[in-house]
Amino acid sequence: MSNYLLKNGRILDPAQNLDQRGDVRIRGGRVAEIAPSLTPETGERVIDCSDCWIAPGLVDIHVHLREPGQSHKETLQTGGEAAVAGGFTSICCMPNTDPPLDSPTLVREIVARAERESPCAVYVVAALTQGMRGEVPCDYPALKQAGAIACSDDAFPVQSAEVMRRAMLGCAAYGLPVVTHCEDKTLSEGASMHAGVVSAQLGLKGAPSSAETVQIARNALLAHETGCHLHIQHLSTAVGVELVRFFKAQGVRITAEVSPHHLLLTEAACAAFDTDAKMNPPLRSEADRAALAQGVLRSVIDCIATDHAPHAPFEKAQPFPAAPFGVVGLETALGCVLLWNSQLPQPLEPLRIVHLLSTAPARVMGLPAGTLAVGTPADVVVIDPNLRWTVMPVGEANSMLPSSPRILSHRTEERESESPQRGRGVGGEGITVIELRSKSKNTPFKGWELLGKARYTFVKGVLVHQAD
Ligand SMILES: [Zn+2]
Ligand SMILES: [Zn+2]
Repeated sequence: MSNYLLKNGRILDPAQNLDQRGDVRIRGGRVAEIAPSLTPETGERVIDCSDCWIAPGLVDIHVHLREPGQSHKETLQTGGEAAVAGGFTSICCMPNTDPPLDSPTLVREIVARAERESPCAVYVVAALTQGMRGEVPCDYPALKQAGAIACSDDAFPVQSAEVMRRAMLGCAAYGLPVVTHCEDKTLSEGASMHAGVVSAQLGLKGAPSSAETVQIARNALLAHETGCHLHIQHLSTAVGVELVRFFKAQGVRITAEVSPHHLLLTEAACAAFDTDAKMNPPLRSEADRAALAQGVLRSVIDCIATDHAPHAPFEKAQPFPAAPFGVVGLETALGCVLLWNSQLPQPLEPLRIVHLLSTAPARVMGLPAGTLAVGTPADVVVIDPNLRWTVMPVGEANSMLPSSPRILSHRTEERESESPQRGRGVGGEGITVIELRSKSKNTPFKGWELLGKARYTFVKGVLVHQAD
């Protein structure tokens, strides 16, 4: 195993409230030393981190890896490769696979396979009900024993309050967080986007905000009664943020995440019937988007998670109402969050950004990650916070560019008129065009110029990603 000396970076560790310039030594797979200046030792690879952040590896608690059963969309390996390219060293995979991860055997199999096939740590979120049918709670102690760290029916939210109450009692007894996609299907049936001005213009059926808020309130009330830890996935509504704030104030064990796409985009992204902007919960109004941003700034929302949901091009090529919900996010999350932050009137400190993407999500799920503490396994990311790069899905890269290497180096050109991105900087600087590694390319950020990228990613001291 190689040893590394990360020189002269801005070291950011929210877990230790550490924000200082200096060096980090990685030896024997662990964080060995942190100091303002360390002398290189024999055999150590020295990496210059000037102008970069050195942070604990990012943690994404909401990822769809599609195995077993849908490996044409993503696999444990390709999803893991996308993760480390995005700076993530720990991810949580969702159970809506085929078959769903509702048995200890399946959970054990994914845990063991991920160990061999994924370059990053993979934690399994098991199903909440058998077959994710919302009828019979799973065997929680057996799932926990097999390695599950939480339970969720994500895309198939439990409709019966009675079943959810029993599921919460069961999970609470074994210390498993109940992770919920909040959606009352009687309100969202047949919808393919948010019910608002854009859906009316397009003539598409929309889901009202109440489809989300009704279930947030119900689940929070049940969590209050059962004492279970309730985690709300991909919050998308202004009222939802208020509900989370209210129930936190009542002492309910409730945490919440928001996705980068809900922080940056609105229903307007669907205006040209772009199915890569179709996800569930849908992109909502500008008022909702602004409220989510406030929710992050005021710490009502605990962390950022991508809901990385890969789909093959032929699936997304269908007409808008028929195309599947979901967007990829592992490789664009950091660039989106830093871009979003740069557009705030008072941008968050880098330490806070790292907290939202690493330390906080690790705490929400109780994962051994999100810190650079000396002696811990070296899950470390070196981030260039100033790199501007353009998101290039593979199909377009193949047709628009002469070849398709992973990273097409610094193409300097005037791109001012091309980029659809709001509030972008002046064109003409060196722009790195990066092709996504995920097996699927369904991103609403294609062609966008994002800000910031992982340069080096270490998992347990092994260099698993290096951007040229
Ligand atoms: Zn969901
Ligand atoms: Zn999801």
